[in-house]
Amino acid sequence: MTAIRWTLVIHGGSGSMRRGHLSDADDRAGRAGLKAAIEAGSAILAAGGSALDAVEAAVRLLEDDPHFNAGRGSVYTAEGHIECDAAIMDGATLDAGAIAGVRATRNPITLARAVMERSHHVFLAGSGADAFARAHGVESADPAWFETAERRRQLDEILANPDAPFDSAMKYGTVGAVAVDTHGHVAAATSTGGLTGKKWGRVGDSPLIGAGTYADDRACAVSCTGAGEFFIRLGLAHEITARVRLAGASIDDAADALISELGDMGGKGGVIVVSADGSGGWAFNTPGMYRAIATHDAPPEIAIYGDE
Ligand code: ASP
Repeated sequence: MTAIRWTLVIHGGSGSMRRGHLSDADDRAGRAGLKAAIEAGSAILAAGGSALDAVEAAVRLLEDDPHFNAGRGSVYTAEGHIECDAAIMDGATLDAGAIAGVRATRNPITLARAVMERSHHVFLAGSGADAFARAHGVESADPAWFETAERRRQLDEILANPDAPFDSAMKYGTVGAVAVDTHGHVAAATSTGGLTGKKWGRVGDSPLIGAGTYADDRACAVSCTGAGEFFIRLGLAHEITARVRLAGASIDDAADALISELGDMGGKGGVIVVSADGSGGWAFNTPGMYRAIATHDAPPEIAIYGDE
């Protein structure tokens, strides 16, 4: 008989969200988006579906929700474009797919999955990735689909203060999901518009396998959010799985240790983790992180602030 244990953890980005600083409307919208995504992924896992299907479904909903910095509602580049990055990984096989700098594909995470399952490659970038989407019937979208007035306002604010330190301009809001299914397989997915005002084809950690996204049935699945350059330098997502697999660390200890090391380097952000044995958790060193967890035996818990 198959065990009925499953766990799903999602995030909608880490950042400076403090109790009282977020408007009631934004607080409600963030929680509603997380609720819809955790419920969609949970329904798949509860029906015996795969971790891979669950993380893709959860991330697709967050991509379509304009309150998060992924898909629709992504941040603008300095030149006023929207360029999305995403990655997905199957912990059962170590298969992975990733895309960067796509401008015309509605759900970047579904394109990442298509790269994983329907190409010989792991990572496609730029117009070539959008062309692959068209060639494989992955839904396109006009640039206008991704655009929101609030993200335009954030870009204008940054362009008006070009001398502000780059880090102070960061508005996190990346989305991600990690799951273990009833078969004991783990998967991870991450999707982002990157950083507001990014230039020169900058790509962060989110689509880099091992930096912002990693999954291995022998340990755990990891999705990151935060100042990508630091996550890349630490190889953070893979480092957590390595400490769980090789050093026998718990997912909580490994996540706490890596976020502490990130902080020591000057980096800010957070991480969600699910272990192959069913536990789920997170760590972050920002005031808040949009996050939710659901398991086979507990209803979804949704939180934004550090004290929840
Ligand atoms: N990690 C993402 C990046 O560096 C940003 C984020 O998490 O919001 O592109």
